[in-house]
Amino acid sequence: MDFDFSSDQVELREAVTAFARAELNGNLLEEERDGHFSRTKWEAAARFGLHGLPMPEAFGGTDRDLLTTVCAMEGLGYGCRDNGLIFSLNAHVWSAEMPILKFGTPEQKDRYLPRLVGGEWIAVHAMTEEGSGSDAFNVQTTATRRGDRFVLNGSKLFITNAPVADVVVVFASEDLSSGPDGISAFLVEKGTPGFSVSRPFEKMGLRTSPMGQIFLEDCEVPEELRLGGEGAGVALFNSSMDYERACILAANIGTLERQLETCVERARTWERFGKAIGKFQSVSNKITDMKVRLETARLLLYKTAWLKSQGKRASMESAMAKLYVSECFVQSSLDAIEIFGAYGYMAEYEIERDLRDAVGGTIYSGTSGIQRMIVARHLGL
Ligand SMILES: Cc1cc2nc3c(=O)[nH]c(=O)nc-3n(C[C@H](O)[C@H](O)[C@H](O)COP(=O)(O)OP(=O)(O)OC[C@H]3O[C@@H](n4cnc5c(N)ncnc54)[C@H](O)[C@@H]3O)c2cc1C
Repeated sequence: MDFDFSSDQVELREAVTAFARAELNGNLLEEERDGHFSRTKWEAAARFGLHGLPMPEAFGGTDRDLLTTVCAMEGLGYGCRDNGLIFSLNAHVWSAEMPILKFGTPEQKDRYLPRLVGGEWIAVHAMTEEGSGSDAFNVQTTATRRGDRFVLNGSKLFITNAPVADVVVVFASEDLSSGPDGISAFLVEKGTPGFSVSRPFEKMGLRTSPMGQIFLEDCEVPEELRLGGEGAGVALFNSSMDYERACILAANIGTLERQLETCVERARTWERFGKAIGKFQSVSNKITDMKVRLETARLLLYKTAWLKSQGKRASMESAMAKLYVSECFVQSSLDAIEIFGAYGYMAEYEIERDLRDAVGGTIYSGTSGIQRMIVARHLGL
């Protein structure tokens, strides 16, 4: 067993951190307060190559294996304090680029992947509806065949990137009576008649990642834009969920590391009762727990990415990684606030934001309750 990254992987991680520090942290307090999504940062990240890490060179990517991609994302979380931007980027890669790569026709790949990898277009997938969340396959949006086109009707809720998206992978049922087997996926482009998006939602955290509702009213999509075959929606969704659960939180490992370093520095230098607060066991115990969480979350994530890099199945590991990393991020963010006291509660210290951002991670890509259910099923329960 080898726990070392190669020198190339370490160099990439460090380069991503340096890039993120230099280009992705500007005006964050204001952008976060105003819920502003920065297209400038998005394009800079794409120019650097972050959008194409796991994508083939033929589409503008750098063809990194999953473990290397996760390593680079960790460097991103370490250097970039904008969790919202990181989340939007990861949603774009794992829920749109990846299914297009895995399920798309040559024409679909040629049309979308270079634009998505190059940062020119923004994408995401839309599954959730008012009547379906955890029970994702209870889709009521319909796709009715009309000649060589499909007519989509319905709406999609809580869709990341929707207000800025150029193309959305929409899940809709070709036959409601067939349940999950009737679900297919469609590539719907901004500007298609009948496709519209709400105003961006106000959220607790991840505020620089825009979210909205999508409306489909007699929205006609040519047959060539069905992604995967008839009824392939569930297979496609499960495949991208496996990637998403394994990788979408990789950047949080870097964030947990930065958070830990910030707290260690504070505990060494901040004095109360005439000594550094790190000398009080209730503070040092918190920091120790943060360190243990970071290392265990990292191991779980690396193992999952390694399994997937080897082409092995990792549904249970992906669910465990998603569950554990997201909950570690919430707990360590709470600990960080307590270590900083009232300063940690003030926006300008940029400690409290992580907690608000972390909570989202326990909900998207399936709630913690659903991840536990997946693991329990794998255990035969
Ligand atoms: C920041 C953010 C970004 C998102 N981005 C997207 C996106 O881009 N595209 C998209 O399609 N969706 C997106 N979503 C929606 C997300 O996938 C759903 O919110 C999530 O699947 C949960 O569904 P729900 O909110 O309807 O909760 P519900 O399904 O209503 O769940 C409510 C509670 O019941 C529990 N529960 C329900 N069923 C079970 C069960 N069988 N066993 C145990 N517990 C259960 C849940 O764990 C939860 O605690 C996003 C959500 C968030 C917060």
